[in-house]
Amino acid sequence: MNRKDLIPPLGGRAPLLRMRNVEKTFGGQVTALKDLSLAINQGDFVSLLGPSGCGKSTALRLIAGLMQPTSGSIDWQDGRGEGDLGVVFQEPTLMPWARVKDNVWLPYRLRGKSYSSVKDEVIEALRLVGLEKFQNAFPRELSGGMKMRVSIARAMVTKPRLILMDEPFAALDEITRHKLNRDLLSLREKIGCTVIFVTHSVFESVFLSDRIVVMAARPGRVIAELEVDAAYPRDDSFRTTESYASHARRASEALHDAMGEAA
Ligand code: ADP
Ligand code: MG
Repeated sequence: MNRKDLIPPLGGRAPLLRMRNVEKTFGGQVTALKDLSLAINQGDFVSLLGPSGCGKSTALRLIAGLMQPTSGSIDWQDGRGEGDLGVVFQEPTLMPWARVKDNVWLPYRLRGKSYSSVKDEVIEALRLVGLEKFQNAFPRELSGGMKMRVSIARAMVTKPRLILMDEPFAALDEITRHKLNRDLLSLREKIGCTVIFVTHSVFESVFLSDRIVVMAARPGRVIAELEVDAAYPRDDSFRTTESYASHARRASEALHDAMGEAA
């Protein structure tokens, strides 16, 4: 069978990857993820929304190839190339002894590229997150929000097709979080990447995504998928619209069901 025939395009967007009936168990006892099937298309902004322990991080680690599913499959439509993936975790995970620009250089350094050969890319990534003036600073000199921006710059410096974000803003105050939410959307407009974003915040998932996958725990599984059919670009005025409120209500209800089932 031709690889291209495996994955039909959905919603007019070219497919990027597909997970089929993915299951992950740990030690043969904990079913972290059960029967997860998910199609991700290029340009999607998909949120995985659910309570703690429902397998969100497990799903991201499987997509990142950091571990293998117990059963089921994960296929990249055109294969996965070097630099196709950027990952942002809840903790910025910066090297404290290295300057901001050297932290952002890391994904290239790991691939054997000298700083001077990728300097333009590094500075451009820092410019896109608004931190070019801080390229020579050390992480300890930055606020929590700025550290997270560096972490985002590092994830996108290689212009990956897919960025995975695991509760990146959960540790930030609400004002900083809203600002980073806005900036993340405008960043995505500029670089046109696909994002899979893990959160347990209904409001964050509605503001950011065009699709919300609601998950429940024990065993970790998908219980609902919602479309957020509000156009981009979105700014803070979206948070006061009836469309935002009704999507948040639907997502809350689905999440409430998820929590109820998990209890
Ligand atoms: P979430 O990110 O939604 O909070 P996780 O994917 O971290 O959920 O975890 C899902 C379930 O799998 C939880 O019950 C968790 O304790 C379990 N789990 C995750 N990673 C491991 C591991 N490496 N070993 C054993 N159990 C794990
Ligand atoms: Mg997690």
